Amino acid sequence: RAKEANDTQVQFFAHALQEAASERLALRNDLRQTLRLPPSAQQLLLHYQPQVNAAGNLLGVEALVRWQHPSRGLIPPGAFIAEAESCGLIVPLGHWVLQEAVACLRRWQQQTDCAPWAKQLTMAVNVSPRQFREPDFISRIEDVLAQVGVSALSLELELTESVVADDLETTLEKMALLRDRGVRFALDDFGTGYSSLAYLKRLPIDTLKIDRSFVMDIDATTQSGPGKRPAVLIDAIIAMAHQLEMRVLAEGVETGTQRERLVRAGCDIFQGYHFSRPLPEAGLQAWANQLHTSE
Ligand code: C2E
Ligand code: MG
Ligand code: MG
Ligand code: MG
Repeated sequence: RAKEANDTQVQFFAHALQEAASERLALRNDLRQTLRLPPSAQQLLLHYQPQVNAAGNLLGVEALVRWQHPSRGLIPPGAFIAEAESCGLIVPLGHWVLQEAVACLRRWQQQTDCAPWAKQLTMAVNVSPRQFREPDFISRIEDVLAQVGVSALSLELELTESVVADDLETTLEKMALLRDRGVRFALDDFGTGYSSLAYLKRLPIDTLKIDRSFVMDIDATTQSGPGKRPAVLIDAIIAMAHQLEMRVLAEGVETGTQRERLVRAGCDIFQGYHFSRPLPEAGLQAWANQLHTSE
């Protein structure tokens, strides 16, 4: 009996594993296909989320990829980025994102009504570890900027701690070369990885992005008690970042309470649903125009 039950279980898990594997394979094949499609048929698309300062001015946007799959609907990056990273498709995907984000910035800059918000706007683009490690990463960036006609000063690359922790010397070298050209860097999801304060000091980071998990804890901390720690951490992170001459951006700001607490803590930039969800190109443009006229 016990053996029978056991066999059934093993079969069940074997089947589930097989399903998961073929599911991943299908996803991978579909992704490879769409990356080959011409721009007019492209299923990948970008949404843009505003980054504002304490006065509410729009400083930049973060480009976030989505996949409009013909049969599965709109797929969020959480469902395909990891797979793309493990099979290497992240390299062409990342290149597509960079190209499209920069081209979009150019379109905003070229609007005939010449929206003032677009002139100084920073375009933040996520870069995966594998993409950053590609030998021709720097020349790819240069080529895209030159072809599209956007200044390197408008581009901010978001790296995670895992990119950096990997091979510090090579990373530093690459970052320095890009920095010489004017590209800026943000450290994404700060506080979730192997935050080594020793390397943080050496990195040419302009913007430190405090992970959403710290921001989420703020509401809980307005009460007293042991839950007080997370806001203390936010204060400490901001103080440290400022010491290192980095700007601090808080991710995932969803409420006015969170915003106010972060403003009091000296946070420089804010991003989250409280201001806007990530929006398609036209939606972001409308949001920004509206923000500007209501000033
Ligand atoms: P991330 O770079 O940390 O991006 C922020 C994520 O938080 C986005 O999720 C955004 O929609 C979400 N978010 C923003 N504000 C709020 C908020 O107030 N509340 C909540 N709950 N969430 C908020 P998204 O678009 O699903 O992207 C998830 C992750 O996928 C990104 O995290 C990034 O790591 C990765 N990703 C997205 N686009 C790209 C890309 O083009 N290349 C690479 N390599 N990774 C990407
Ligand atoms: Mg990011
Ligand atoms: Mg982040
Ligand atoms: Mg995050």
